[in-house]
This record gives sequence, structure tokens and C-alpha cells, in this order.
Amino acid sequence: MSRPDRILFAGDPHGNFQPLIKAVHKHKPEAVVLLGDYDLEESLEVYLADIIGSTKIWWIAGNHDFESPSKYKNLFDSSLADNGLHLKVTEIAGLRIAGLSGIFLGRVWYPPQPPKWDSKHHYLQHQNAHVKYADMSLKYKSAIWHDEFHLLKNLKADILVSHEAPGSHRHGFSAISDLAAAMGVKHVFHGHLHENYARIIKNNIHVFGVANMTVVDLHGVKLSDN
Ligand SMILES: [Zn+2]
Repeated sequence: MSRPDRILFAGDPHGNFQPLIKAVHKHKPEAVVLLGDYDLEESLEVYLADIIGSTKIWWIAGNHDFESPSKYKNLFDSSLADNGLHLKVTEIAGLRIAGLSGIFLGRVWYPPQPPKWDSKHHYLQHQNAHVKYADMSLKYKSAIWHDEFHLLKNLKADILVSHEAPGSHRHGFSAISDLAAAMGVKHVFHGHLHENYARIIKNNIHVFGVANMTVVDLHGVKLSDN
């Protein structure tokens, strides 16, 4: 029953969704999870028209998705906007998948340093009175916020998908490893670093780095031929 290719994970497409589309046609997964950095010049559903309806599409956002108002809008106002996994646990093909979009940002929180701001609310309180969340710059929206991260830690899941890497990678963060351990996940899939690798971290958690334009299955096995 539990085919490892029933869920596919796609590393940073950066505008090229063809490896994912080819893998979906070949493997017919129940669901795909996109790991961020889309560089969308049109709305996300335009790129994925070939596979919408044949598989369920889920996503987290990467830093590039906050680079310009158009890239942001093409993701967050797309017809797939409701399929974001950020800061929650979603049951997908029988597994509980937790999502963490964005990156650690020095001006917000860059672990292991303490956070500059405890929360968006805290940050906004210190801006001009008229500044509301909607006006918050995209840079700040791309950040991982300390309070939200800690709320996620209280939830349980089987898999964590993040854009940032855990401590398994030299450019990763042990805060993500701690998050994965607290949530009791068995697997972490991450993008951002454009590198395919598999590594085991504390609590016997298997981490899979998924390179740009690369598709892997639940065992971290690469399915795309790029
Ligand atoms: Zn990135």
C-alpha cells in the first residue's frame, strides 16, 4: 500500500517546474510538496496547469518568493494559496506534514542569537502607529518569527518540510533540528541550499536536502533525471 512515491518533494524550482511535471506524469503521486523558491512570473497555477487535478499540490514559501511584490502575489494570491503548509500540520496521503516557510533573518531572529523581535506584534508596536501587518515589508514577511516557530514546536507530525536546513548541513540551523525533534518527526525535507544529500541527526531523524529543480520520493530517492 505505502508506495514511497505516493508523495513527491520538489526542491527550489526557480521558474522551472518541468522536472516536477514529468515526475508527476510518471509516478502519479497522491500529493506533491513544493519546498519554496519559485520565482513566479505568472500565477503558480499557470505553471502547474498540467498536473492540477491529477495530484494534490502543497507548498511552503522560500526567500525568493518575497523578493518582489509580483513574485509574492503570484504565490500568495494564486488559486493554490490555500494549500500552504506554513506553521501547521496537515494530513497528506496518510502522513502528518508540518511546514515552515521563510528564512532566518538577522533583523528578526538569527538563532542561536536571541530574537531581535519576539513577534510581529512586538515589531509593529515599535513602528509608526499607522503601520499594520499588511504594510510590513516583504523582507520581514519572509522571516521565521520566534513566537510562531515555538508554537509550531508544540504540534506533532511525521514529516517536517522547511526551506531552511537543519543542523545536518554546514549552512543549516540546529534550531530546525530542535524543532524536528520536539515535533517527533521521522523525516525532514528541505530546499534552499541546492544540494541533494541524506543525513541522520539526533533522535534518528532522517534529513533529505533536495536540490534545485530536483524531485525526490518519501525515501529521499531522486526521481527527476536532471
Ligand atoms: Zn532559498
